[in-house]
Amino acid sequence: MSPKGHALLSASSSDRWLHCPPSARLCESYDDKGSDYAAEGTDAHALCEYRLRQALGMEATDPTENLTWFNEEMSDCATGYATYVLEQVEAAKQTCADPVVLIEQRVDFSRWVEGGFGTADCIIIADGTLQIIDYKHGLGVLVSAMENPQMQCYGLGALELFDDIYDIDSVRMTIYQPRRDNISTYELSKDELYRWADEVLGPTADLAFAGDGNFLCGEWCCFCKAKHDCRARADANMELDTHRINISVLIWCIVQEPKYKNAREIVHQLCDVVAKNGNLLLNVGPDTDGSFHPDAQRQLFAVGDWLAVCGEAIYASRPWKKAGEGPTGAKTGGYDVKKIARQLEEGLASDNRNGRYTSRDFRFTTRGGAYYAIALGWPEDGSWTIRSWGSNDMPGVRIVTLVGGGELAFSQSPEGLTIKAPEQMPYAYAWPLKVVCG
Ligand code: SF4
Repeated sequence: MSPKGHALLSASSSDRWLHCPPSARLCESYDDKGSDYAAEGTDAHALCEYRLRQALGMEATDPTENLTWFNEEMSDCATGYATYVLEQVEAAKQTCADPVVLIEQRVDFSRWVEGGFGTADCIIIADGTLQIIDYKHGLGVLVSAMENPQMQCYGLGALELFDDIYDIDSVRMTIYQPRRDNISTYELSKDELYRWADEVLGPTADLAFAGDGNFLCGEWCCFCKAKHDCRARADANMELDTHRINISVLIWCIVQEPKYKNAREIVHQLCDVVAKNGNLLLNVGPDTDGSFHPDAQRQLFAVGDWLAVCGEAIYASRPWKKAGEGPTGAKTGGYDVKKIARQLEEGLASDNRNGRYTSRDFRFTTRGGAYYAIALGWPEDGSWTIRSWGSNDMPGVRIVTLVGGGELAFSQSPEGLTIKAPEQMPYAYAWPLKVVCG
């Protein structure tokens, strides 16, 4: 396997510096310490390359004895990857007698990005389509190929090599991530890719190279070496910390006859706050001996049970471009900092309750390339319709699952995404519908 090296504006970090251009120069001053995950990924790539070369009948040296992280799972993943690529090559042969297959191909996209290069795991060229397949060994983040800038940079680099030689019309990009059962494919025309390069990639890369542009926080921050020292991120976290709720209906401390919100209300408030880019700080008033009232405990355990199943739509999620849809709005009294300050002065800091949500009320989050619409009501007629996710707004919907409940049938029109609900309600309060595109 060829060494991949590191560029200031690497393809693998392009999601970060395209969102936050000054992060490129900021990260430059930090050592690249590496990690066990990166080392494991490097081993897995070496094995994938070997297995693929073997499958294609090419000469290859077995790297296994030098792989620190080799195990049975890695072996199965590498075999699966080689099989998948082989299937793609066979499919290409249906329309093209002699498809070109390149493994671990260095690609250079420095026409748009100063010093920009990378290594594509596999490139297949056949019948007007240039396909790039990238292996991901990581488990933590589900990687989508849709508008994935790393893949698009590789696509540009591959076009630089082959566009003059072959008659290429479109570029297909595939992420193969076996440990997450994820094969994500996205295709766009060569012209669309060049337009993105000229209008977005090149100008933003110029800003990043110069250390200019605006800081912007988002899910890309988790891969930023400067994240622990970044002022913009600290400010954003302070901003997030302003959303707090009380689980008591009446008052922020323990009283003789306390009255608590039920778990459904707390879950709905949690979903509403998270969809609006907030986090939730719960106030639970303890008794004088430090114990919590049994009613409070019951509700909190129920919320914990819901999070154990549905937490992937909440933890480490990011807001979608719209917080929610539906006829029922959250009353904002509970988030009004001035009102809370006034209530505290008066000795009574109560929290307004929301209206009863319906099956037409959704709150949106995203995480790892997937989209979540958290349904706040169960549909009496057997299906949910998400109007914000019609075929024009959310193209290429591939899989819809109910988190903790399995895959669901769906249909899509410009008016919305309609999802058939399971026969049985698998759990209570709210139901995250997970959508994967590409
Ligand atoms: S932590 Fe986030 S906002 Fe700060 S420099 Fe890194 S990417 Fe930009």
